[in-house]
Amino acid sequence: MKPLVNVSPVDEDRCPVCEIKLDAGSSALMVLSTSRGNQSWGKCPECKSFFVAEQYDLDLEVQHTRTQPWGMVESGSALNDYKSLMFEAILRALRRYATQGSTLLDVGCSYGGFLQRAQREGYHVHGIDIVPEAVEYVRRQGIECDCAKSVEDVNIPESSQGVISVLDCNCYWPSQRKELRALYSRLCPGGLLVMRVVDTSWAVQIGFWLRRWFPMAGQRLCEKAVYDHRVSIPVRTLLRVVEQEGFEIIYTSPRDAMPSRYNSLKVKIAYAIGHFAWRAAGRFVAPGCVFLARKRAS
Ligand SMILES: [Zn+2]
Repeated sequence: MKPLVNVSPVDEDRCPVCEIKLDAGSSALMVLSTSRGNQSWGKCPECKSFFVAEQYDLDLEVQHTRTQPWGMVESGSALNDYKSLMFEAILRALRRYATQGSTLLDVGCSYGGFLQRAQREGYHVHGIDIVPEAVEYVRRQGIECDCAKSVEDVNIPESSQGVISVLDCNCYWPSQRKELRALYSRLCPGGLLVMRVVDTSWAVQIGFWLRRWFPMAGQRLCEKAVYDHRVSIPVRTLLRVVEQEGFEIIYTSPRDAMPSRYNSLKVKIAYAIGHFAWRAAGRFVAPGCVFLARKRAS
């Protein structure tokens, strides 16, 4: 039996998003103080993503998640209803492209809010999450669920999934390309990847510039914008990487990414402006985006 290794050997010389080889200076740009403590952050000169320049440790990641609302039983299960607007928007988009009654794997399923709704739509659902309590909770709902940090660590046969969803989860991956390749292999030919992603990389960039003249204000903006994530990726960069990994982008919507009908007016306006800018000018200024990508034949 193979020993269980929780610390991923992240290649510190490579960008965790586009995987180009980085100069030594790129991976220690600034130290940010977030809910994870002080962390070194770098920026990729090629794809413009910001990233934590430290090794991924699964045990620390689980411990951290348990301190967040989506990692605790009571608040995590409450988010199942809070995020219903977003879950319903994603299922509505899937109705246009996915085969009815197909298999659906939710990566980073948390307390199963999306899985429960997808199951009611007729999908044969399966979840994965790193928090054992969340996995147990989902199993108690009668839904198959595995505790794992990657699809690679679970017994999901290749070409078996009609849909794989990744909602607010890729910002915690140690390697975007590695996970995307694993998802690609598990999708059936023509299968769909649906992702809900956050993009506040533009705010990190503004904060980074501000630090030159207003160090405190710039620092605070950077720290607020990276939140507790491990990467901050411009949506255009991520879409390009997804395409390079064998997918065709067939649908994008900043509006579908609005998390909740209970969001503040400020947030609703930000998504409305973002949606308009994306549709009218192809400029991405929204705080998040939902996109669907179809697996191309290899
Ligand atoms: Zn990069």
